[in-house]
Amino acid sequence: MTVLSNDALEKRLISYRHYFHEHPELADHEFNTTKTISKILTDWGITILPTRLATGVFAEIGNSTGPTVALRADIDALPIQEKSGVAFSSKIDGIMHACGHDTHIASLLGAAYLLKQHEPALKGRVKLIFQLSEEDKEGALQVINDGQIDGVDAILGFHNTPNHGVDQIGIRAGITNGAIDKFKVTLQGVGTHASTPDKGQDTIVALGAEINALQSIASRNLDAFQAGVLSITHVSAGNTWNILPDTAFFEGTVRTASKQMRKLIKARFFDVVNYTAKAHQVTANIDWYDGDPSVNNDAKLAAIVRDESSKFATVYEQEQRLGSDDFACYQEKIPGVYANIGNGEKISAHNPYFKADDAMIKVGMTYFERNAIRILDELQQ
Ligand SMILES: [Zn+2]
Ligand SMILES: [Zn+2]
Repeated sequence: MTVLSNDALEKRLISYRHYFHEHPELADHEFNTTKTISKILTDWGITILPTRLATGVFAEIGNSTGPTVALRADIDALPIQEKSGVAFSSKIDGIMHACGHDTHIASLLGAAYLLKQHEPALKGRVKLIFQLSEEDKEGALQVINDGQIDGVDAILGFHNTPNHGVDQIGIRAGITNGAIDKFKVTLQGVGTHASTPDKGQDTIVALGAEINALQSIASRNLDAFQAGVLSITHVSAGNTWNILPDTAFFEGTVRTASKQMRKLIKARFFDVVNYTAKAHQVTANIDWYDGDPSVNNDAKLAAIVRDESSKFATVYEQEQRLGSDDFACYQEKIPGVYANIGNGEKISAHNPYFKADDAMIKVGMTYFERNAIRILDELQQ
């Protein structure tokens, strides 16, 4: 392996990031991304581990006699047409790295390079997880079911975040991000002519009542000091002006920051939907999808990562937020820390104008590398 200077490594990582940004791939379809990451790691002499998954890359550095720490970067992009105007904009129509996962990949590649260089000094094993399908298709669960975190003692991840400089790292012990659940509801009534509503059971009036009634959960049932959101994001009913339709549909999502609130909202949701339907003489068919749990940082590990990260960056207390990340699935199994690293820009993720400053890659790389070494040291003791 040729030894790269710090500057040469950073330049190399930025060019990799630009390549991934120009060639984004959707969840479960990260074939070229997988091939490219594997090739880079192999060229650096890093061992790629077997997997039953079609995408995602798993690799290891160090020796398996000590503890194992896993480093996780997500690798998928989004179905968004890029409008950011950056020189390395997406070359794939309708697909964009609008969540900045390209910067996560480059950061983890950089850490892999550095860790490989001091491999003999490592007090254990570092496992690299280039995770497929964070945005969709339950990538973390696929990785867990593939056995990739078996024998792993701790896991580290991060997300780039706007409105913070690239030297800033947000860390919080305990719950950081919200749990995410989804619902779909179909109301079934009896269709009729618009002039004779008494001959049917109107699903449109019932739909309006459902929308209003559900808003009372967040305002009247949630503890005012606990975060929770219920959003109805899509409604549909009828298709012309003189027929009252026999069905109406709505769907949306619930975000909560505690297990208790999550349970409470779900229970109230079923009651409110069913009783409101009954009051309007229609029936409700509810499909509820339990999504990712809350990102919940292990307190002891968070203190270690906070201490180590403050040696090379400015660490701030991360506020709680209701966006989700399937990193939470790993934390249900093993202790982990998920931080936020400033991306030096202002536009939020999942936006066609999203940008992230290349300079954050160096910080992301250092976060992974230094904390992996430190955690292995701590786990040895
Ligand atoms: Zn995203
Ligand atoms: Zn993301």
